[in-house]
Amino acid sequence: MQKVYCHESLINVHHVKNCLESAGIESILKNESLTSLAGEVPSFECWPELWVNENKVELATQAIAEIKLQQDAIANEEPWHCHSCKEDIAPEFELCWQCGASKP
Ligand SMILES: [Zn+2]
Repeated sequence: MQKVYCHESLINVHHVKNCLESAGIESILKNESLTSLAGEVPSFECWPELWVNENKVELATQAIAEIKLQQDAIANEEPWHCHSCKEDIAPEFELCWQCGASKP
Protein backbone atom coordinates (compact mmCIF):
# COMPACT_ATOMS: atom_id res chain seq x y z
CA MET A 1 0.00 0.00 0.00
CA GLN A 2 1.09 3.55 -0.60
CA LYS A 3 -0.17 6.92 0.63
CA VAL A 4 -1.61 9.04 -2.17
CA TYR A 5 -3.44 11.80 -0.35
CA CYS A 6 -3.74 13.50 3.01
CA HIS A 7 -5.60 16.58 4.17
CA GLU A 8 -6.43 18.21 7.48
CA SER A 9 -10.15 18.05 6.66
CA LEU A 10 -11.66 14.59 7.01
CA ILE A 11 -14.55 15.74 4.79
CA ASN A 12 -12.08 16.44 2.02
CA VAL A 13 -10.41 13.07 2.43
CA HIS A 14 -13.79 11.32 2.35
CA HIS A 15 -14.69 13.24 -0.80
CA VAL A 16 -11.50 12.12 -2.52
CA LYS A 17 -12.09 8.54 -1.33
CA ASN A 18 -15.59 8.58 -2.86
CA CYS A 19 -14.26 9.97 -6.12
CA LEU A 20 -11.59 7.27 -6.26
CA GLU A 21 -14.19 4.61 -5.55
CA SER A 22 -16.42 5.80 -8.35
CA ALA A 23 -13.34 5.58 -10.61
CA GLY A 24 -12.95 1.95 -9.51
CA ILE A 25 -9.96 2.58 -7.25
CA GLU A 26 -10.16 1.03 -3.80
CA SER A 27 -8.57 3.04 -1.02
CA ILE A 28 -8.07 2.75 2.71
CA LEU A 29 -8.53 5.63 5.12
CA LYS A 30 -5.92 5.91 7.87
CA ASN A 31 -5.68 8.24 10.86
CA GLU A 32 -9.42 8.86 10.81
CA SER A 33 -9.69 8.46 14.57
CA LEU A 34 -6.42 10.22 15.35
CA THR A 35 -7.89 13.46 14.01
CA SER A 36 -10.35 13.79 16.85
CA LEU A 37 -7.72 12.76 19.39
CA ALA A 38 -5.38 15.48 18.16
CA GLY A 39 -7.56 18.03 19.93
CA GLU A 40 -6.18 21.54 20.06
CA VAL A 41 -2.82 20.70 18.52
CA PRO A 42 -3.57 19.63 14.96
CA SER A 43 -0.39 18.15 13.61
CA PHE A 44 0.48 17.10 10.11
CA GLU A 45 1.13 13.53 11.26
CA CYS A 46 -2.44 13.27 12.50
CA TRP A 47 -4.08 14.23 9.22
CA PRO A 48 -6.33 11.57 7.71
CA GLU A 49 -4.59 9.73 4.88
CA LEU A 50 -5.71 7.75 1.85
CA TRP A 51 -3.73 4.66 0.89
CA VAL A 52 -4.09 2.56 -2.26
CA ASN A 53 -2.48 -0.57 -3.65
CA GLU A 54 0.84 -0.04 -5.45
CA ASN A 55 -0.67 -1.00 -8.80
CA LYS A 56 -3.29 1.76 -8.45
CA VAL A 57 -0.97 4.55 -7.32
CA GLU A 58 -0.60 6.10 -10.77
CA LEU A 59 -4.35 6.00 -11.49
CA ALA A 60 -5.14 7.39 -8.06
CA THR A 61 -2.60 10.20 -8.38
CA GLN A 62 -4.10 11.24 -11.72
CA ALA A 63 -7.64 11.10 -10.35
CA ILE A 64 -6.64 13.18 -7.32
CA ALA A 65 -4.94 15.78 -9.53
CA GLU A 66 -8.22 16.12 -11.45
CA ILE A 67 -10.22 16.44 -8.23
CA LYS A 68 -7.87 19.22 -7.06
CA LEU A 69 -8.26 21.04 -10.38
CA GLN A 70 -12.03 20.90 -10.03
CA GLN A 71 -11.85 22.18 -6.46
CA ASP A 72 -9.54 25.04 -7.51
CA ALA A 73 -11.90 25.93 -10.34
CA ILE A 74 -14.80 26.12 -7.90
CA ALA A 75 -12.74 28.14 -5.41
CA ASN A 76 -11.81 30.67 -8.10
CA GLU A 77 -15.37 31.22 -9.29
CA GLU A 78 -17.16 34.42 -8.39
CA PRO A 79 -20.24 34.37 -6.18
CA TRP A 80 -23.48 34.75 -8.14
CA HIS A 81 -26.43 37.06 -7.45
CA CYS A 82 -29.82 35.53 -6.89
CA HIS A 83 -32.21 37.13 -9.39
CA SER A 84 -35.20 36.95 -7.06
CA CYS A 85 -33.87 37.97 -3.63
CA LYS A 86 -30.53 39.60 -4.62
CA GLU A 87 -28.54 37.48 -2.17
CA ASP A 88 -24.88 36.75 -2.97
CA ILE A 89 -24.45 32.98 -3.29
CA ALA A 90 -21.17 31.08 -3.10
CA PRO A 91 -20.26 29.50 -6.45
CA GLU A 92 -20.45 25.89 -5.29
CA PHE A 93 -24.18 26.20 -4.63
CA GLU A 94 -26.63 25.59 -7.46
CA LEU A 95 -29.58 26.95 -5.50
CA CYS A 96 -30.11 30.16 -3.52
CA TRP A 97 -29.96 29.28 0.17
CA GLN A 98 -32.32 32.15 0.96
CA CYS A 99 -35.22 31.58 -1.43
CA GLY A 100 -34.32 28.37 -3.28
CA ALA A 101 -34.15 29.94 -6.75
CA SER A 102 -31.78 28.17 -9.13
CA LYS A 103 -28.54 29.61 -10.48
CA PRO A 104 -29.20 31.65 -13.65
ZN1 LIG B 1 -32.70 34.00 -3.59
